Amino acid sequence: SAAVEELITPPIEVTYTKNLINGHFVDAASGKTFPTYDPRSGEVLAHVAEGDAEDIDRAVAAARKAFDEGPWPKMTAYERSRVLLRFADLVEKHNDEISALESWNNGKPFEQAAKAEVPMLARLFRYYAGWADKIHGLTVPADGNYHVQTLHEPIGVAGQIIPWNFPLLMFAWKVGPALACGNTIVLKTAEQTPLTALYVGRLLLEAGLPPGVLNIVSGFGPTAGAALASHMDVDKLAFTGSTNTGKIVLELAARSNLKPVTLELGGKSPFIVCEDADIDHAVELAHFALFFNQGQCCCAGSRTFVHESVYDEFTEKAKARALNRIVGDPFKKGVEQGPQIDSEQFKKILKYIKSGVESNATLECGGERFGSKGYFIQPTVFSNVQDDMLIAQEEIFGPVQTILKFKEIDEVIRRANASKYGLAAGVFTKNIDTANTLTRALRAGTVWVNCFDVFDAAIPFGGYKMSGIGREKGIYSLSNYLQVKAVVTALKKPAW
Ligand code: ADP
Repeated sequence: SAAVEELITPPIEVTYTKNLINGHFVDAASGKTFPTYDPRSGEVLAHVAEGDAEDIDRAVAAARKAFDEGPWPKMTAYERSRVLLRFADLVEKHNDEISALESWNNGKPFEQAAKAEVPMLARLFRYYAGWADKIHGLTVPADGNYHVQTLHEPIGVAGQIIPWNFPLLMFAWKVGPALACGNTIVLKTAEQTPLTALYVGRLLLEAGLPPGVLNIVSGFGPTAGAALASHMDVDKLAFTGSTNTGKIVLELAARSNLKPVTLELGGKSPFIVCEDADIDHAVELAHFALFFNQGQCCCAGSRTFVHESVYDEFTEKAKARALNRIVGDPFKKGVEQGPQIDSEQFKKILKYIKSGVESNATLECGGERFGSKGYFIQPTVFSNVQDDMLIAQEEIFGPVQTILKFKEIDEVIRRANASKYGLAAGVFTKNIDTANTLTRALRAGTVWVNCFDVFDAAIPFGGYKMSGIGREKGIYSLSNYLQVKAVVTALKKPAW
């Protein structure tokens, strides 16, 4: 079925393309720019200041000053909270422009950005605004005549490196908690998607964020990103991206000043459909779990394990659903799937599809590019996938569903856990005992039962094994951005 109605007619204006340092939009120190693209066509959308080590230095200096001299960490928590709340209001006010820019630069459906992601950006900031004035230490009973308390202090200058698949949500997960705790920030956006962070960075200034508190540098990983990870004056590093790059930044952090690092990395998440599951519901959610955001989710349900007794029915229906998926211009109403982010990802995905065919998995549908321009790929389903095939082991990060067959619960637990990753898992069953067995046994940071991709500001997210270190969102994110200071004061005589 085709989507018809055009929602918005780009070009939307691109207003902010320079680095945001100390409250001003400035050119790169080198004067260089790099192109950013519209993935629908591969055409250049804007030229953006190309940050490098020198720009990172300037941004860190601004963040350092804003931290050491204030006003941000010295403002009352209530005042900080109000800035975040005003920002959330501005985000809602500008939902259409922000969503359009996100869709234009990333290729995701405009409706997805407008109905889910931009509202979630506002929601996350309101959630963390709520925490700002509720962060406090403890009074600790200790042996001897001492009054002991802990102070929960901001950690300092936070360096944050984010990817291109959810530019605004990654901004929210990183910037929200760091600001609520009173830190200052240098954010390095992904080279593919620099635009929306600059736009909302401007809104934070309008909301009353003092200059230097949030600095945003656009640029490439090995230059700007590496400079940030290895900077001696950065007190904490938060990274989301691939497992390989995670290893690099962890090493850079260790080699420089041992800044603590949180990592949110890749995944190959199992989605387990038991024999007693509601099959139609499981088919729909397995489809969503894999194809959402063009398959570009670190937590995608990318190994669909289906019990042998329902395997044929499930596969038939999964194929029918994929064939019905509406692919097209992300600005059109009803479109479920836009283009992949860039030609590199596009080629990589097609290579994985080829490898699936060569390894004798059954190609149920799709398998080729969609249309003749841009980076669109047909929704693709493989059945008869075996654990040792490349498509069952590596992160494809595209619209390619792989369906595997299982017999026993113990067997599927063993196979689901036989991965270097451990980000998420989905479990579909009506049996509470089966659900309990699986949720306890699966080695993953999130287990969704009869649902998938449920994200809420309060629910922590992160990975076991090589899917990462630490948790983001919820109360758990706060500890990433706080130092604990124990203050021990001798008492002249026992207080009681
Ligand atoms: P992807 O494969 O999803 O593009 P990456 O891990 O390469 O994942 O990218 C995620 C983020 O990490 C981006 O902002 C990118 O610029 C940055 N990055 C890539 N390489 C490095 C590096 N060597 N040092 C620091 N950051 C990097």
